[in-house]
Amino acid sequence: MSPDAPPHPRLGCRCSEGRVVSGGRGDVRFLPGVHSCAYVRVREAQIPEAERRASLDVERSSPGWTSRFMHHMSALTAAALLDARAREDRASL
Ligand SMILES: [Zn+2]
Repeated sequence: MSPDAPPHPRLGCRCSEGRVVSGGRGDVRFLPGVHSCAYVRVREAQIPEAERRASLDVERSSPGWTSRFMHHMSALTAAALLDARAREDRASL
């Protein structure tokens, strides 16, 4: 997200999650109204690898690319969240 993007009205963050630009004036709404910034950071960190893996599966211009991208995003995010949880559990021992 651009540093000059408007901050979330409730969270104060500049996450791209939920930002919906509508209308010709570029009005920004947030749907849903709140999110987990930590979850968004983990998920956004997976985008480059998910793009790489999807492009290995099918050509980027293929109609199936988005489906493969979403598959890899889900798998990579789940693995990253489980890894983060395991690190937290180890740290609390
Ligand atoms: Zn946020």
